[in-house]
Amino acid sequence: MNADNPNTVLVTGAAGFIGSHLCEALLARGHRVMALDNLSTGDTAHLERLLGHKGFTFQKRDVGLEPTPEMSQAGRVFNLACPASPAHYQQAPVDTVLSSVLGAWRLLELAQRSGARLLHTSTSEVYGDPEQHPQREDYWGHVNPNGARSCYDEGKRCAEAMLMAYRQQRGVDVCMARIFNTYGPRLSPGDGRVVSNFIVQALQGDDLTIYGDGQQTRSFCYVDDTLRGLLLLMDSGEVGPVNIGNPGEHTMLELAEMVLRLTGSRSRLVFMPLPQDDPRRRCPDISLAKSMLGWQPEVALEDGLQRTIHHFRGLLGARSVTVA
Ligand code: NAD
Ligand code: UDP
Repeated sequence: MNADNPNTVLVTGAAGFIGSHLCEALLARGHRVMALDNLSTGDTAHLERLLGHKGFTFQKRDVGLEPTPEMSQAGRVFNLACPASPAHYQQAPVDTVLSSVLGAWRLLELAQRSGARLLHTSTSEVYGDPEQHPQREDYWGHVNPNGARSCYDEGKRCAEAMLMAYRQQRGVDVCMARIFNTYGPRLSPGDGRVVSNFIVQALQGDDLTIYGDGQQTRSFCYVDDTLRGLLLLMDSGEVGPVNIGNPGEHTMLELAEMVLRLTGSRSRLVFMPLPQDDPRRRCPDISLAKSMLGWQPEVALEDGLQRTIHHFRGLLGARSVTVA
């Protein structure tokens, strides 16, 4: 049993946006990190500066496969393996649902054998197109079970159910964070998420693509804040689910105007059709995260966007990007 070996940490989805930041944070805290990723949406370039670190190993591997014996050395497991951008997960719905469901199952079996604590990254998408606002953890959600987004939403909901089943019946040590839209450096410039799309479009002088009338809202959390929430949840003995998100709510038109102002861009706004089942409003109630973990976001949207714009300026200096 490795529950008393929290120093070795397994991170799945390690080459992705949040996963790569998490690996860095864990190494900085002195952990040994075993990183796993099938590189479907991730990029080893995100891990380049970690590859020489003696506490870091990387394996190209699917989370749905039988875990290797080495993986049972981990006392803690962070499961992030799943495409997160709507453009990506809708291109590969089978892989998406299997990543969530089979991935959670494999890691729960592993944790049951090894005694590891498993943190699963769930999502605000479990609330679907919510009828309650802001969303509290005790809201059951309003999800289309077989629509364009269901491979992601229902995959994550099934994973939550499986975590609770393994906890109740088999005593596995689990916890889950419902992450709301997170942004920051290393968002993939071509994966179609709104923050990267708008910044890339603004910096390249292209039209900013507003889907629908732009009145739909999201609440954007800077990646450092999200990471801090995940680490606090892992360090706590809590189960959750707990919302990790920034309660500052903005329309997509407001976001576009802010990006134009911060980049100094003269790009125009163009309106395009709203994708199917696109949630109209989304904002976390973070009372539970505050009371349970003493967590709340610290980075204001403008500051986080400045840092993200700085990152993309460097990236785009070298190449031009077509957004999804
Ligand atoms: P991302 O797409 O950048 O990273 C996901 C990583 O998982 C990628 O590196 C990808 O290659 C890898 N992956 C996908 N399927 C896999 C599989 N079957 N086996 C192994 N690796 C696999 O996404 P992200 O934004 O970093 O999100 C990380 C996690 O956080 C995801 O589980 C996502 O659902 C969750 N989340 C993210 C957000 C957000 O706003 N970024 C919001 C809610 C939840
Ligand atoms: N969106 C947009 N223009 C874009 C990309 C996205 O207006 O170029 C909208 C999208 O329709 C959604 C919101 O921005 O209402 C957030 O989209 P994203 O894909 O980033 O995340 P999610 O829908 O999963 O919250």
